[in-house]
Amino acid sequence: MGFMDRAAQTVFLSELVAGMGLTLRYMFRSKVTINYPYEKGPLSPRFRGEHVLRRYPNGEERCIACKLCEAVCPAQAITIEAEPREDGSRRTTRYDIDMVKCIYCGFCQEACPVDAIVEGPNFEFATETREELLYDKDKLLANGDRWEIEIAANLSAEAPYR
Ligand code: SF4
Ligand code: SF4
Repeated sequence: MGFMDRAAQTVFLSELVAGMGLTLRYMFRSKVTINYPYEKGPLSPRFRGEHVLRRYPNGEERCIACKLCEAVCPAQAITIEAEPREDGSRRTTRYDIDMVKCIYCGFCQEACPVDAIVEGPNFEFATETREELLYDKDKLLANGDRWEIEIAANLSAEAPYR
């Protein structure tokens, strides 16, 4: 750029005017930011967030302690212990997930034959200590009770593609 052009820019403040024009143009467009956490953006039904253990509508646990999720987990984050109940059905006595080890790959969910372990839509579970991210069966079942409606809707939206 020559001396005269630079001088003209300085005298007529053309860069400033161009900048103000840009500001004005965006002032009247719809906002792309949201007021999180009071507003939340859309989430895909395939979003892989915090894990839950689900129940059937009658309250019975879905998990049949087949341990497929434990076997498939590449991070070895899942620990299951199981024994038969008095009625002969097989259920877990321990179901732990170390959420610090978990890489949210979704393999456990894919491997489960009864849709018991599912990664739900919750992503707001940050903690202050590592211990709080060692989830046991009670915590996972409580998560399932809390998110069942959203998870059932997501699974049914995804059913045609599985
Ligand atoms: S999401 Fe992946 S890493 Fe996490 S518990 Fe499931 S299988 Fe393991
Ligand atoms: S959560 Fe599913 S895959 Fe894992 S042990 Fe229970 S039934 Fe088997």
